Amino acid sequence: MAATTDTGTETPEIRTSNFLSERIAEDLRTKKYGDAAIQTRFPPEPNGYLHIGHAKAICLDFGLADEVGGRTNLRFDDTNPEKEEQEYVDSIQKDIHWLGFDWERLCFASDYFGQLYEWAIKLISDGKAYVDDLTADQIRQYRGTLTEPGKDSPYRNRSVDENLDLFARMKKGEFPDGSRVLRAKIDMASPNLNMRDPVMYRILHATHHRTGDEWCIYPMYDYAHGQSDSIENVTHSMCSLEFADHQPLYKWFIENLGIFPSQQIEFDRLSITYTLLSKRKLLQLVQEKRVSGWDDPRMPTLSGLRRRGFTPEAIRTFVAAAGVSRTNGSTDIEMLEHFQRDDLNKRAQRGMAVLRPLKVIIDNYPEGEGETVEVANNPENPDAGTRQVPFSREIYIEHDDFREVPPPKYYRLSPGKEVRLRNAYFITAQSVVKDAAGNVVEVHCTYDPASRGGNSPDGRKVKSTIHWVSTKHAVSAEVRLYEKLFTKPDPNDYPEGGSFLDNLNPASLEVIADAKLEPSLAKAEVGQPLQFERVGYFTLDPDTQDGKLVFNRTLSLKDSWAKIEKKAGI
Ligand code: ATP
Ligand code: MG
Repeated sequence: MAATTDTGTETPEIRTSNFLSERIAEDLRTKKYGDAAIQTRFPPEPNGYLHIGHAKAICLDFGLADEVGGRTNLRFDDTNPEKEEQEYVDSIQKDIHWLGFDWERLCFASDYFGQLYEWAIKLISDGKAYVDDLTADQIRQYRGTLTEPGKDSPYRNRSVDENLDLFARMKKGEFPDGSRVLRAKIDMASPNLNMRDPVMYRILHATHHRTGDEWCIYPMYDYAHGQSDSIENVTHSMCSLEFADHQPLYKWFIENLGIFPSQQIEFDRLSITYTLLSKRKLLQLVQEKRVSGWDDPRMPTLSGLRRRGFTPEAIRTFVAAAGVSRTNGSTDIEMLEHFQRDDLNKRAQRGMAVLRPLKVIIDNYPEGEGETVEVANNPENPDAGTRQVPFSREIYIEHDDFREVPPPKYYRLSPGKEVRLRNAYFITAQSVVKDAAGNVVEVHCTYDPASRGGNSPDGRKVKSTIHWVSTKHAVSAEVRLYEKLFTKPDPNDYPEGGSFLDNLNPASLEVIADAKLEPSLAKAEVGQPLQFERVGYFTLDPDTQDGKLVFNRTLSLKDSWAKIEKKAGI
């Protein structure tokens, strides 16, 4: 089940010893399910793209089963035809594979509509379900509150025959949307509101993405989920904490139908600072065009993270490190970034790129083609080999690496100062050329031919090494720099009357139209991990078209988590 990823690397085993794995181990020890293998499922609703919160559920559902030789189904919880689409079904499968997992069986709750309907008839026949004509508003009023018991519906004591007849006619389409529901007959005074005669079926004349117009009644989540688990012989149905209050109902249906005893176990939702993990709100960002789409590299969706250059390995490591517990908390985004940098540092191919170019002319270097210098592809990995990078009399450096009037402790290039050009030569700035507005547009330097390869010829020290790109060999590219999408650690923290949209960071995207790159970067592939030396981690964006390169910055190089860890003594 643990799979290899698209990048071809082996999935590292994430051993998670926690209350979930202990529970599974205990059930195996006591042979709760006889000799049957552990069966789990990942049950997304196809109403949006998967986000990194889902990655946690996926790693647990697949990972825990895999640790004990069990199996995991992918089951689409497709009981809300109005919100669900094939596009989502496809993207979810793609993202799970990308994350490195493969399912035993591909299932759809909609495949069970027939069985669920028969079971509803059984509950009606047993006097445990009834058709209610109250409106949705009335049902809410009759339901009571946490402190007051509910009231019985006047339709609660309909005869079995009348209920069977009405339910059959609901299915036939005789009644308009919202006019009737089927409810379980449990306890209107239960302290758990979910047990106060929960709705099992509603009338909805809507076309389903798989069953078309076959059905005009659809099961509610609570009635569909546990029964689907049971149909698939799911032993451990893990879900996030908000379903804890639904557990008694989950058990009630299974017990009263006498079907396979699946068990629901809850764990904490992943929540990350500066990040929204709610499909509904992410959909709003997409629909209102606050982002370019579900896969906008600023989105916490798996497709957005992938496009941004995040790797499945780092996401899995992060999710494992964030751990599971029985109370919801929040994880620092810096921790995710830390694991991602760690992973990219090992695997990213290096290249030199100048984002804000300033021209440097080396006056004593010969005119002409220049030469090439040999550079390591990844100093962290000698197996990555070397490449030849062209060097010539005219180069670009970062604007920021030159100051005409250097502030204190500024060790990069300034008039009279010598610096090392990475893997090339020592140069000393001699003079500048300015435009009419007084901006430096060209720096004239001299170089020391004896410092080839960036080595000091006589032991003299330079305090700084800067990167460069030969102007005549440079390739142009658009570079997209991303910052956090939200300005607040909790994007849902807004004053009354406001919305999470008020916390959007207006500076979350900066586009550099014409960066200058060493020629080897023109061969980059979409998704390939890259490091632009001294600048950050990048990857090629699928917007790249013939002749026009587009790169995304995955992350800058600065690791703030390492500092947080050190300070906290972690
Ligand atoms: P959202 O609130 O974003 O719409 P959801 O819970 O409605 O999420 P589903 O498609 O129903 O999304 O979720 C599939 C599975 O993923 C469920 O088991 C759910 O518990 C789990 N899940 C969703 N979000 C998170 C999260 N942030 N952390 C951990 N598990 C999650
Ligand atoms: Mg849901």
